[in-house]
Amino acid sequence: MASDRDEQKEYREKRDFRKTPEPKGRSRRSSGAPVFVVQRHDASTEHYDFRIETEGVLKSWAVPKGPSTDPREKRLAVPTEDHPLEYADFEGVIPEGCYGAGVVQVWDRGTYRNITGGNGETPSVEEAVEDGHLLIELDGEKLSGGYALHRTGTGEDANWLLVKMDDEAADARRNPVSTEQRSVKSGRTMSEIEREDGDSKS
Ligand code: MN
Repeated sequence: MASDRDEQKEYREKRDFRKTPEPKGRSRRSSGAPVFVVQRHDASTEHYDFRIETEGVLKSWAVPKGPSTDPREKRLAVPTEDHPLEYADFEGVIPEGCYGAGVVQVWDRGTYRNITGGNGETPSVEEAVEDGHLLIELDGEKLSGGYALHRTGTGEDANWLLVKMDDEAADARRNPVSTEQRSVKSGRTMSEIEREDGDSKS
């Protein structure tokens, strides 16, 4: 198995840690259930970074419209580089001139369970991602229940979709990305984070 540090090479190469307040990453395995986090990121184009802990890193997708609680809504999810586990707690402002410059908010977080498979055999999260078909059950503050991540297309045209599974937590009337906009870490809005953390490096 490649070391956790090697897996985050792309993450480190994109960033100048003398300038950005983002974590360098030491990637220790956390104890207990694996975590997920959804970070609202107001970069050049606003999106929600959906990240799940596996094998000492955060596997990541950028979801332009954010997650839905409506099973009929298929949300595009573009894979991005693995992030260090510590990133799950990161909230603040990435300065101008840095990769991903803009406000980052911990929009939701919690733990998750891999529920891929069903007929006795549960592939690992890595296998499921490799296969392009992952089912997870979230236990967050805003999001809960099953979510599917499916890869569609091949090669250059490959993309992923994030879709709410039709279970008890599904709710077509909820629209948490527009009605539940505060941070689950600090209670702050995007503009409060920008105002308070804008000029500091931590
Ligand atoms: Mn992002």
